[in-house]
This record gives sequence, C-alpha cells and structure tokens, in this order.
Amino acid sequence: MDIILDKDNENSIIGLIRSRRIPHTVIIEGADSAERESAARLLAAGAVCTSDEPPCLSCNACSKALEGYHPDIFIPEPSKNLKSGILSLKDLRDNYLSQMSVKPNEADVKVYVFSEADRLLREDSQNALLKTIEEPPQNLLFIFTVGSAKSLLLTVRSRARIITLRHTESFDEDCEDAAADIVGGIVSLYEYDLLLALGRLSDKERLRGALTAFTEKLRLALCFYSGIPTDDETVKRLTRKLDRTRVIALIDITGEAVSRLATNVNLQLLTAWLCSQYRRITWQK
Ligand SMILES: [Zn+2]
Repeated sequence: MDIILDKDNENSIIGLIRSRRIPHTVIIEGADSAERESAARLLAAGAVCTSDEPPCLSCNACSKALEGYHPDIFIPEPSKNLKSGILSLKDLRDNYLSQMSVKPNEADVKVYVFSEADRLLREDSQNALLKTIEEPPQNLLFIFTVGSAKSLLLTVRSRARIITLRHTESFDEDCEDAAADIVGGIVSLYEYDLLLALGRLSDKERLRGALTAFTEKLRLALCFYSGIPTDDETVKRLTRKLDRTRVIALIDITGEAVSRLATNVNLQLLTAWLCSQYRRITWQK
C-alpha cells in the first residue's frame, strides 16, 4: 500500500516514532480517511521496523507492515454477520482481546489498528478495550483512526496521545455551503432539491470537496447519537430527520462515490446514481 501523506503529517508521525517513546494508545484524527489510514500504517511500520532509523520502509518488517501481512499487526475488521461496519463485542473478545496477552511473533510489539474506530467500535467495545488501555502490557500498541477524537469515549481518548493530521485540501466555504445544500436536499420532501444540490457541483474537484465536507457532517451526526452535542445547524438538521443506521449507510455510499470519482467516471451518471442512492437510504421505510 502506498503511503499518501502530506509532508507535515508524515513528519509528525515519524517524529513520534523516532522519539522512541510511542505511547501505548494513539488516536490519529483529522484529514481524510485515506490519510489517516496511511498515517496508521506508517506508525505501525515504525513500531515493528528493525532498522536503526525507523520507519526505514525497506526492511523486511516494514515491507510486511505496508503490504498488510505483518504477523504482529492486526487490523480488526467489522463483523461479517452485522451490517453497518461494526465489530461486535463478541468478535472483539473472541478474536482479539483474548489474544492480546500472547507475546508478539516477530517484533517487540503487537499493534492493533482500529480503523475509523467511531464506526467500528460501539460504546460497549470501547469499554471492553479500556482495561487494556489503562494497564497495557509492555508490548502492545493501539492505534485508532477517527475523523474526530471527540467521537470516541472520553475515557479512551483521555488515555491516548492524539495526533491531529491537517487537511491537505482546503475546506473552503464553498465545500461547506455545498455540503449544507446536500443536507438540505436530503431532508427535503422534494427530490428536485437533492438533484439541484448535486447538479450544481459541476466538476470532479468540487464534488469531491462537497462530499468530503458532507461526510464530516455525517460523522458529527454519529457523534451526536453517541451523546456528544453539536452546535452545527447542518448536523442538527440531519439528526432531526435520520437515525444512526441511515447516517452510516450515507457515509458508506458517499465513500463509494468518492472512490468512483478517482476513476474515469462520467460525472452526470455518478451524480444521478448518488441521488438515487441517497433517496433510497433516506426515504425507505
Ligand atoms: Zn524498517
């Protein structure tokens, strides 16, 4: 996997690794999910790297880490029997928690990367991890990636080092306005409003910016359902209209649209598809 990281963001991760004082729990927040993912991979590689200057990105351990098959790096996946990207408490216990006290295979440390942890780990799972976070064995590193650390339990984040990645794309007001328009279209009774909001985004960059800003609103809505209040009027409009399940479905479909944008896709077709998906999710009974 390629590491896609802004230079400043890369430096903050490498700085932490080379300080030789990587904390037991690190939360990587900010930027977008691809950058957070890269930052987590880089940090994990740095933790297992066998060179004198970690992460060297060329030793055997680094290569395995970057390719995703290092035996001491675990990336828990959502439970297969559950919709909506959640790792069940049972699977967390059976597949991961029960193994955490087992010594690492090759490296000095075992690394667990909880990607997009606000979605992956519900409150019960975060609580189940707490005991290990509070009294971690020497050779354990937890990495959580999340849009905003605030969407994790206070008890978790108060014990973690939080690294905030900066946005490489500027989240200008245009994107914010466009995201608010999309929300307006989603909560509207008329399909036309949604078509109009998406139709205004006449090139790929604008659509990407708007969808990224929209995703941040959806993530804040998820935080709201977890009991974290918001001042954001756009987010409030969402939460008044939609439940958690629908918001998660919207995050998924928006993520899919953003990845399609990276391909050679016809913009109008993509917009029409997205509009129908949004309608399906928000208006289905
Ligand atoms: Zn290395």
